[in-house]
Amino acid sequence: MKQIKLDAYGKINLGLDVLGKRDDGYHDLDMIMQSVDLADKIIITKNDSGEITVKSSTSKIPNDKSNLAYRAAKLLMEEFGIKKGVEIEIEKNIPISGGMAGGSTDCAAVLKGMNKLFKLKLTEQQLMARGVRLGADVPFCIMGKTARAEGIGEVLTPIPNKLKGYLVIAKPPISVSTGFAYGQIDKVKIKNRPNTEGIIDAVKENDLHSLAKTICNVFEEVTIPEHKEIEEIKTKLKDCGALNAMMSGSGPTVFGIFDDKKKAVEAIDCIKELDVLEQLFLAKFVN
Ligand code: ATP
Repeated sequence: MKQIKLDAYGKINLGLDVLGKRDDGYHDLDMIMQSVDLADKIIITKNDSGEITVKSSTSKIPNDKSNLAYRAAKLLMEEFGIKKGVEIEIEKNIPISGGMAGGSTDCAAVLKGMNKLFKLKLTEQQLMARGVRLGADVPFCIMGKTARAEGIGEVLTPIPNKLKGYLVIAKPPISVSTGFAYGQIDKVKIKNRPNTEGIIDAVKENDLHSLAKTICNVFEEVTIPEHKEIEEIKTKLKDCGALNAMMSGSGPTVFGIFDDKKKAVEAIDCIKELDVLEQLFLAKFVN
């Protein structure tokens, strides 16, 4: 095998709670992660250059050693003494710095792809143990589907389900620094925390309506006051028929949940009226 193509799925948070700051500077989290079919496309091709090269469809991410896809390939090539080279092509579709783990999922896809391309025979658990060294969300991106993520995000419990959910994903033209959001969350007294067990029950029961009522992300309390357009998008998504709408991760991407594809498609037209949108996507849950 000379080449492998992979879909690197983005994620949304159905629940996101920050439990506190640890001595090592990381935060203890309790999150419900959900893969969505809004995906980057990754192509890894073997060559004889002995180098790793990264090409991407956007100039908004680095193509150098700091790209998480590069770092994933390097980690495995060093560990397994791989002398060949690889070219990694990234078609970027997931909003950048949007709270949808775009970099982490590219990293996860490259770990999985290199494992197959070079027949390394690493198990999913072994890939996840390597992935966490590159980013706390990488193990979830390797596992995918729906999972509770605790610790810094790497302690994963899968939540099997057959939930069918359609999403309208909207990103305003602003950036939120994840570092800033965590800094702020330490300073505020969080008023509204997720009922994580309730979210898990709704997922397990495949009850989208109950899930939509239960979703909660503590980062909304720090990000929305700084960026009012996020609230504007949430309100509009609900006016356009979403069962509920919420910000993903530390933002600024917002998703609206729909129980029917037609309603989601109609909502795309409806929300287009807003002038605070940079990117708009139709997606569905991956499970
Ligand atoms: P998270 O939800 O995990 O906090 P995010 O979705 O908010 O992540 P990303 O799109 O992953 O944010 O990008 C965060 C930073 O990582 C950007 O500044 C970007 O330059 C860098 N980065 C490195 N490699 C990649 C990659 N392959 N794709 C996207 N960003 C990357």
